[in-house]
Amino acid sequence: MGKALIIGCGGVAGVVIHKCCQNSDVFEEIMIASRTKSKCDAIKEKLDGTTPTKIRTAKVDADNLDELCALIDEYKPDIVMNIALPYQDLTIMDACLKCGVNYMDTANYEPEDTDDPEWRAIYEKRCKEEGFTAYFDYSWQWAYKEKFEKAGLTALLGSGFDPGVTQAYCAYAQKHLFDQIDTIDILDCNGGDHGYPFATNFNPEINLREVSAPGSYWENGHWVEIPAMSIKREYDFDQVGHKDMYLLHHEEIESLAKNIPNVKRIRFFMTFGQSYLTHMKCLENVGMLSTTPIEFEGHQIVPIQFLKALLPDPATLGPRTKGKTNIGCIFTGKKDGKEKTAYIYNVCDHEACYREVGSQAISYTTGVPAMIGAMMLMTGKWSKPGVYTVEEFDPDPYMEALNKWGLPWQINDNPVLVD
Ligand code: NDP
Repeated sequence: MGKALIIGCGGVAGVVIHKCCQNSDVFEEIMIASRTKSKCDAIKEKLDGTTPTKIRTAKVDADNLDELCALIDEYKPDIVMNIALPYQDLTIMDACLKCGVNYMDTANYEPEDTDDPEWRAIYEKRCKEEGFTAYFDYSWQWAYKEKFEKAGLTALLGSGFDPGVTQAYCAYAQKHLFDQIDTIDILDCNGGDHGYPFATNFNPEINLREVSAPGSYWENGHWVEIPAMSIKREYDFDQVGHKDMYLLHHEEIESLAKNIPNVKRIRFFMTFGQSYLTHMKCLENVGMLSTTPIEFEGHQIVPIQFLKALLPDPATLGPRTKGKTNIGCIFTGKKDGKEKTAYIYNVCDHEACYREVGSQAISYTTGVPAMIGAMMLMTGKWSKPGVYTVEEFDPDPYMEALNKWGLPWQINDNPVLVD
């Protein structure tokens, strides 16, 4: 069918590449391009000969528009899959517009330098107007809507698990299960154990920024912000068991609040063990989560980037991680005039993921929907010019593909609700 340019070659990209190679009818050719070319070459060497997909590799700095355009013009892909970091979202979108290619990613834009005065002024205005203080939000990428429409191109934002699959669950619930969705609780439970006292399951810098920030949720038409980790609940997850979970700000709340008509409340909870929280608090207290550069023995270092260099690389957690994830959405609302509830969720086993593609379940649950999102655009099943999140498309082909490609979902019609 076509060619995909995959940018980035970390934990999530490793899964994306394996899954594209399993789906060679759609992904006839892929180019893996990243900052460190040796990582791209290593995965090509592993997969060459095991798949009909033709693999090429390249080095690219995705912060550099000219480099990106030169690569796209030379390779002529049907889609650019941004599996690098949210810092690169806007540059890669610019490159796609300039070269006339569809775009997709797994996380919304945030700046690497949160001290940049120009960005900061816009951020502070947004905090006041919108009422949440997370560094990431959709405004930057939604601003490209008209440009993509005019160019006749599609940008699919946030096709990982959360964001991503969780929004497909919402669109599915809206289309098939409810006349009116009143509340959505997104639950992200990782019951996996990697045996380290402290490690993050995806890029440490992005992960620690997200979980150390104030929490917030959407209620009755506006944001309610709370101190980080100040709302805690316990939940008994199918196939995982009892876990403590904490309310976080999460990007899909922002788009769902716009796209699910008359929804009254949307919250996001993630499970954390006590050891993770104690380590994070301690690192935060001593300044190790700071993104502001400091002078150290004549060098400028960014504390959180230094911490990243010390922590285990999430891409190496696969062989050590045991246990399961359970991620899904609990809905309450009405159908045919009656009150109704549903929990749509997936359970994923870390060790099974490792056996299949050599990675743990967090990378797997992100990488599979990234491949599926790209497949939706390449096959024309999702096709409308503009900039969209997952819930803005027909959920049926995506939900069907989740079952086929490794993330089967189920529905519990009588879930325990979160108070
Ligand atoms: P990693 O840090 O493991 O990988 C990032 C990759 O991007 C690395 O290969 C890195 O290169 C490359 N990269 C970084 N900067 C550049 C650049 N300027 N030019 C070219 N390549 C670059 O991250 P993950 O794989 O864990 O995460 C990937 C993405 O997935 C992130 O955006 C993350 O937020 C998102 N994510 C989304 C989830 C969801 O459910 N929606 C869940 C988990 C993650 P190098 O190898 O040289 O470092």
